[in-house]
Amino acid sequence: MPLQLGKNFRLPRTVRPVSYRAELAVDLGRDRFQGTAEIDLVASEAVSRIHLHAVDLTVAAAQVLVPGATPAGQPIAVAALVPDTVSETVTLELAAPLPPGPATVRISWAGAFSPGLRGLYRAGAIAVTQFEAADARRVFPCFDEPAFKATWELSLRDVPAGVPVISNGRIVEETASDGGSRRIRFAPTPVLSSYLIALAIGDLVPSEPVDARGVPIRTWSVPAKRGLTAFAQEAAAAVLPKLEDYFGLPYPFGKLDQLGIPDFEAGAMENAGCITFREVALLLDPATAPLAMQKRVAEVITHELAHQWFGNLVTMVWWDDLWLNEAFATWMAFKIVAAWRPEWRIWMDFEVGKGSALVLDAMQSAHPIRAEINNAEEAGESFDAITYEKGGAVLRMIEGYLGEERFRDGIRLYMRRHREGNATADDLWGALGEASGEPIVELANAWIRRIGYPVVSVAAAPETNGEGGDGAPTLVLEQRRFFSDPTAQESGPPTRWLIPMVIRYRDDEGVKQQRVLFGEATARVTLAARGRVRWLVANAGAAGFYRCRYDERLLGAIGGALSDGAAVVPGGAREEVQPIERMAVVSDQWALVRANAVEVGDFLNLITAMASESDPFVLDELVGRLGLLEGRHVAEADEAAFRRMIADLFRQSAARLGWQAPASQEKPESDDTRLVRAALLRAMVVVARDPAAVAEAERRCLAHLAPSGEAVALDPNLLDIVVTAAARRADDARFDDFVRRAAHEIDPAAKRRFLHALARVETPALVARAVATALTEVVPMQDFTSYLSVLLANRATREEAWRLVRERWETVRAKADSPMLLRRLVEGLGVLPERRHLDEVEAFLSSHPIEAAKQATLQTLERLRSEVALRERLIPQVAAWLARRRDAGAELG
Ligand SMILES: [Zn+2]
Repeated sequence: MPLQLGKNFRLPRTVRPVSYRAELAVDLGRDRFQGTAEIDLVASEAVSRIHLHAVDLTVAAAQVLVPGATPAGQPIAVAALVPDTVSETVTLELAAPLPPGPATVRISWAGAFSPGLRGLYRAGAIAVTQFEAADARRVFPCFDEPAFKATWELSLRDVPAGVPVISNGRIVEETASDGGSRRIRFAPTPVLSSYLIALAIGDLVPSEPVDARGVPIRTWSVPAKRGLTAFAQEAAAAVLPKLEDYFGLPYPFGKLDQLGIPDFEAGAMENAGCITFREVALLLDPATAPLAMQKRVAEVITHELAHQWFGNLVTMVWWDDLWLNEAFATWMAFKIVAAWRPEWRIWMDFEVGKGSALVLDAMQSAHPIRAEINNAEEAGESFDAITYEKGGAVLRMIEGYLGEERFRDGIRLYMRRHREGNATADDLWGALGEASGEPIVELANAWIRRIGYPVVSVAAAPETNGEGGDGAPTLVLEQRRFFSDPTAQESGPPTRWLIPMVIRYRDDEGVKQQRVLFGEATARVTLAARGRVRWLVANAGAAGFYRCRYDERLLGAIGGALSDGAAVVPGGAREEVQPIERMAVVSDQWALVRANAVEVGDFLNLITAMASESDPFVLDELVGRLGLLEGRHVAEADEAAFRRMIADLFRQSAARLGWQAPASQEKPESDDTRLVRAALLRAMVVVARDPAAVAEAERRCLAHLAPSGEAVALDPNLLDIVVTAAARRADDARFDDFVRRAAHEIDPAAKRRFLHALARVETPALVARAVATALTEVVPMQDFTSYLSVLLANRATREEAWRLVRERWETVRAKADSPMLLRRLVEGLGVLPERRHLDEVEAFLSSHPIEAAKQATLQTLERLRSEVALRERLIPQVAAWLARRRDAGAELG
């Protein structure tokens, strides 16, 4: 009788694996494999069947052995092997009941490489695995849920001579057979969940090992990229001891291999001791990599290393706590990299990621950080900005509230208590509460179980003028859930958050901070200020996950402090408001424009007044917002005037810094100066399209790319800008050249730069080619959805690209053959600007539903709806603002 286990079936806890001894023979010529395994397990009660996960595996034979008279044990026959595709299991129906106690399953099977980037798949000349969330079952029949931790002793046979193999454990035995092939046995692992097992077979070469407190670290790449591994080695060796110190426990997996894989779904995967990466997240040339790339690589490496403790050593019980893994690794990576390279100011990059979480979480289709997860497919859906960045921001907020030491003590307690085991979020809050003596469970649950986040309205109480009057100024605070959509409302009673707020302000005596734990709908806070409060921000250091809406007077005071006039005084007000707070003010004001709580004209007044901003991150934020407005919210008739306005704002500063440091300058420029230059030139070239700046960018690009011998040096931070300028105006020959570079560049960042450049062409004659390229092998599967997203965001190519998605749907879908890529594909449609697009996308996704991207579909449709409405609202407002500005200019004469 067929079993009806259903999609949400979870393995019973009555049978648990203890260890796997598995051997695979991988046929690299035919993309197939065969396996045998002995799985030691323990039954807590008598059972008549054993369920194992398996997908697309042909299980040939199975037998169960119980310890008995013979050394091999007493066999129990398997009466039937029943596969079930819905629950992704194979059930061993036993001829006789298995008594409680230890037993061993002997099983053999065969399978094929998976077509997408999961299970065991082909990436160029390499066969590699990707198992999270639930794809170990595509290679091994196993207990494929995180709660079932066991040791794994893996062997490979029939490995051709000279072909390298890498797995979680080091190689402990290698035997050659007659035909010249080898059998390789890896050291048994400590107990691990199945999603953390990894294998790679094929043409990878290792760097020289470096030693970090006795842990040998190697970085592997395809042979041509061997020269790009030094930075990854340096970063891993630097951060691994810092992580050991933080957790108070040594690195648990003996050796560390970092593998750059030529086609890879995510950014990286934290397999124990055998971490796999997309090449661009691991390999770089420090001489030519933009600073942002170096920071990103260091951050990803540290994120995956943090998982070796948080995730691998202590593992979630079920996928509903996946967020904890990811939130923790996200937060920890920034913390550790900030300690390694403080001059990078990496928390400013965290702020950018947090910005995308704030956008996603302001939608009605948002989900709580900790969501109910019924099956592995739903687990796959929850890898989004709410899980990573909001989760990370909430941990940061709790750390800020408890203080660094008490927070770290709680983490250490949690690690010691649950090492080599499984734990839930409540175990973590329990440990943090115990270590700190604070009621942390309530505070944490208030943030992780609730959807969305608050906007806090901050107003000066009417009876206090805050401007030199008697008595301390009093603030009136009010909180409500923030929605981007002005028409959205909460369906139930209004949500209240317990908000650990820190208010920073300037009075006659200096800059002060005041803490407030704000949990009511409204509250009054009296500041311990002396004299006049010149400005205040209600989210000090932007450490809180909420938005601030200031009343007119308070906003005017901040605007005054941030405007160009204030910056003239050395050490003036602008420097007192921290860069991260200046960024948050801009980000919050823009969010309020979207929510129809602030006029876009007022927003433009604020950011144009900040144009001489000297911090590169804040400047980037300003340029980014202007770019967004230019790209979506300006009528065609106003485009030229809007771009001229932007060019006028930044022309002088850009000219002052020029394209490179003057030859006469002896001291090398600081990173900040180089990043300010990049932000200004991005504004002039990419956003404002200033003709002189564009021509110069194109000239420098061509000079830089000239055949070797003539090539001209260029600051790596400017490469994206000049290549974009050249790509927009490409002709056939230049397009051919960029295709060649996208295919053959060794440096993954350069490869991606030229690949995306192809999607940025604006020459009408090249549009069809740029779009058709998406489906050619120039664009690998891992880059397909990002390439498509660039096409969809490009005015010149978007209609053709959207047509490609609809008319070649089967092919398009097959090229995004994994749940994560399908989600990215759907999300990419969210940039289409017009109401007509909204209708088309809605109709298309309802007639072509994607089961693995249900949440992404909801999020994308909501985003489209609100963006389309926003565009219709802003276009006339921007036009009116431009007209007022023009009239004012005319009056000035
Ligand atoms: Zn992670």
